[in-house]
Parts: sequence; C-alpha cells; structure tokens
Amino acid sequence: MEELVIVGAGPAGMTAALYAARKGLRPYVLSEDLGGQANWSSRVENYMGFKDIRGSELMERFAEQVKAQGVAYEEGRVARVERREGGFGVRTAYGREHAARAVIVATGKRPRPLGVPGEAEFRGRGVSYCVLCDAPLYRGAAVAVVGGGNAGFQAAYDLLGSAREVHLLTDRLTADETLRRRVLGRPGLILHEGWVVKAILGGEAVHGLVATDGEGREKELAVEGIFVEIGLLPNGEVVEEAVARNEAGEIVVDCACRTNLPGLFAAGDVTNACGKQIIIAAGEGAKAALAAADYLAFADKAVKSVPLPVQ
Ligand SMILES: Cc1cc2nc3c(=O)[nH]c(=O)nc-3n(C[C@H](O)[C@H](O)[C@H](O)COP(=O)(O)OP(=O)(O)OC[C@H]3O[C@@H](n4cnc5c(N)ncnc54)[C@H](O)[C@@H]3O)c2cc1C
Repeated sequence: MEELVIVGAGPAGMTAALYAARKGLRPYVLSEDLGGQANWSSRVENYMGFKDIRGSELMERFAEQVKAQGVAYEEGRVARVERREGGFGVRTAYGREHAARAVIVATGKRPRPLGVPGEAEFRGRGVSYCVLCDAPLYRGAAVAVVGGGNAGFQAAYDLLGSAREVHLLTDRLTADETLRRRVLGRPGLILHEGWVVKAILGGEAVHGLVATDGEGREKELAVEGIFVEIGLLPNGEVVEEAVARNEAGEIVVDCACRTNLPGLFAAGDVTNACGKQIIIAAGEGAKAALAAADYLAFADKAVKSVPLPVQ
C-alpha cells in the first residue's frame, strides 16, 4: 500500500508532491500530464519571481524541482478514487489499482463545452479548446473565439499574431481592463458583442458557424477554426459520490484542504478554494501535503472529521 497517492500534476499536484517528499513521505503521482492548464498560458505575468514566463516553461521548472526529489510518477488517467479498508483505492482507466492510506485529488478543471450542434462532431477538426496548442494550424485563416472573459480575450490576443481575422463572439464582455486594452481595436479583430453561437457548420472540417443575438436574428460567419473559451468545469467526478461538493461541482475543502472523508484531501482548481490561479493552486497543494503528512502521522489517534459547510 502507498502512503500517499496524488492524482493530477498541475501546479497543485506538483507542489503537493514536493512538499510531501520533503516531509519524508513517498508520494506516488498519477496524472494525465505534467503542468495541466498552466501549460496553455502563453504568458504568465503573475507568478511571483517571474516577471513574464510561458506557462509551459514555468511548469517544466516545477517538474524539474519535483523530479529532483525522486518522486514516483505514472502517466495515465485515473477513473475512480474510492474508500477501501484502511484507506483508498485509486483505479486507472486502464485497469491498474493502487491502494493508498491517503489521497490528494488535484485534478483541476477542463473546458466547458458550448453544447451546440456540430461541436462534438468537429472537435479536433476545427473546434478547439486550446489556443496555445492549435493556433499554428490557423495561420492566415479566419477564426472565431467564443467567450468574452479573460480566457476569450487572451485567446484572441494570441491568435491575432497569426490568424488573418479573429471574430470574438460573446453575450457580454467580462474580461479585465488590461486585456481589453490589449485586444480591442487591434487590426483583424472583429467583435460580435451580444452574439452567441447556435451551430457549427462543416464538411470534412469546420467552415463556419451560425450566430444568433437575443432578438432572434441570425448570421453566418465563414471561419476555419472555432476556439471555445467559455469557462471551465471541475474534474471532480473521479472521486466517489460521498465526497462533499458545492453547486458548481467543486470538492469542498476546509482551510487545510481536508475533504469530509478522513484521509482524502483536495487542492487547486478542483476545489471550492477562492481564486483559480497558478500561485493559489500551488499554495493549496502545499497545504494539502502538510495536512496529509499530519494525517498519516496521527491517523491512529484520528480526531473525528468535522462535517464541512457546503459553500
Ligand atoms: C488559457 C489559460 C490561461 C491561464 N493563465 C493564467 C495566468 O496567466 N496566471 C495564473 O495564475 N493562472 C492562469 N490560469 C489558471 C491556472 O492555469 C490554473 O488556476 C491552475 O493551472 C490550476 O492548477 P491545478 O493544479 O489545480 O489544476 P490543473 O492545472 O487543471 O491541473 C490538473 C492536473 O490533473 C490532471 N488530471 C485531470 N483529471 C485527471 C484524471 N482523471 N486522472 C489523472 N490526471 C488527471 C491533468 O492532466 C493535470 O495535470 C490560466 C488558465 C487557462 C486555461
């Protein structure tokens, strides 16, 4: 049986692994990738100590620091985390099961889909959820970005460097002032405020979209790429139903990252912790590891866990 399994290796999971290793535990990290969402950020300007760094470079530095501690890492998807006698079972999507006395869930978030006809069909054939990954495919093309928040504006900013024209569709603008100033008015940017996507059109690949406004009007835009940036959903489904979640589906934790199940901790964007940022996820990961170390040291004399308020 492992002492501690950490599911997810974004900023939260990797920081948890570092802190756990430095506490003398032997954390076993299971994750689909190293770096998580932070890899998708072309410019991180708010991680202390780095004035301006690519998200993927920052995550490489995290990984280097974790690897230097000799942390065990397995790349793969976790399908289920469930209570078992004396701890938890962590089952991968390919049928391996790890037993652990304690688990930290740091599975972050995933893009929220639009839920319109054509989206699922053209996923990977013109519909994308990652500008950093796919922008080079649309050099010189007309593309659309859906979403008027920070993610949408960051996506439009990144695409303006290479795409011929960028249509930005949103029911309302919520992006920060700094990002708005960077994007609005740039050549090639066409803002469709008050318009939402109704359907995605294509043959072999995407060739357009149908947008509609609040008054039932419709228009068609000819675009080859559609970048969906309308928010994120927590990846908390891997954990059994008994764990407390809030209305947004985030795992509810207390100030030490403890869930309502003794021995199960959660950190970062998958939780109800305030502020979805790299620096916050990293800090929460550190807290979760310290709490897990305390739990493992004192589990036999365990204080009964207090039910958490759902926020
Ligand atoms: C486009 C974009 C730009 C951003 N820019 C910034 C920025 O400039 N500054 C900033 O501070 N924040 C930024 N953020 C937010 C920041 O990236 C997140 O807050 C942070 O990455 C959250 O870290 P996390 O470790 O909680 O989750 P994530 O980064 O989401 O990591 C989750 C990890 O869990 C793994 N995982 C998920 N499900 C499973 C499973 N079932 N089995 C195994 N592994 C699993 C994933 O592969 C990943 O490794 C940005 C986010 C996006 C999307």
